[in-house]
Amino acid sequence: MLGAACGVTLGVAGALAGRSPAVGAVRTHRLGYRRVVTRRAAVALTFDDGPDPRFTPTVLDLLAAHHATATFFVVGTGVHEHPDLVRRAVTEGHEVANHTLGHERLDHLDRAGVRAQLEGGAAAITALALGPAARPRLVRPPFGFEGAASRAELVAGGWEVARWHGCLERHLVRAPAAEAAARLAAGARPGDVLLAHDGGADRTTTVDALPDLLTALARRGLAVTTIGSLQAG
Ligand SMILES: [Zn+2]
Repeated sequence: MLGAACGVTLGVAGALAGRSPAVGAVRTHRLGYRRVVTRRAAVALTFDDGPDPRFTPTVLDLLAAHHATATFFVVGTGVHEHPDLVRRAVTEGHEVANHTLGHERLDHLDRAGVRAQLEGGAAAITALALGPAARPRLVRPPFGFEGAASRAELVAGGWEVARWHGCLERHLVRAPAAEAAARLAAGARPGDVLLAHDGGADRTTTVDALPDLLTALARRGLAVTTIGSLQAG
């Protein structure tokens, strides 16, 4: 169902717009941001739709081999089914964030439905008792879709909406793994939030492309880290 799509960003002005671009801040031109202002030569790599036992362990292995960390936007139902994968990610220095409870399109829900998706996703993570900061502050709406109800709930709930600037699977639909990785890396700039997927569909090609992506980013002098790490400066 999720296929290779990287979602759609709707051009609606958001309540979080207008922050000054200080280091650690986020550039917001809509509800949410696509890059973090930073002086570091680093990008934030994010994985959506996991945890998935078919792909997440290999992704974690590859990140470790390349001394990289990432932010995992996990789906709550998957967290309930595979809590050990989430625990492993946190233990290995990765960041876990909210991709809702059931990966439903938020623009199809009313405010109560949106709230249930956001809170259900957060509760799945919080229930793992991963530490004092276990409740996620970061969220990524499934497919990037939003409606008036979800925008209102995201603002009311104080959620920080992380979007993305480049998507690995968007390149993978047009090119083999190595070439897709090279294209994404070539367009990356410090502070960019990059998107890939470790679940929700067959992510074999994503896993195939990941070593090339990490190598290509390193060749460009770009470290790979979490959104939270980039924001911390
Ligand atoms: Zn997703």
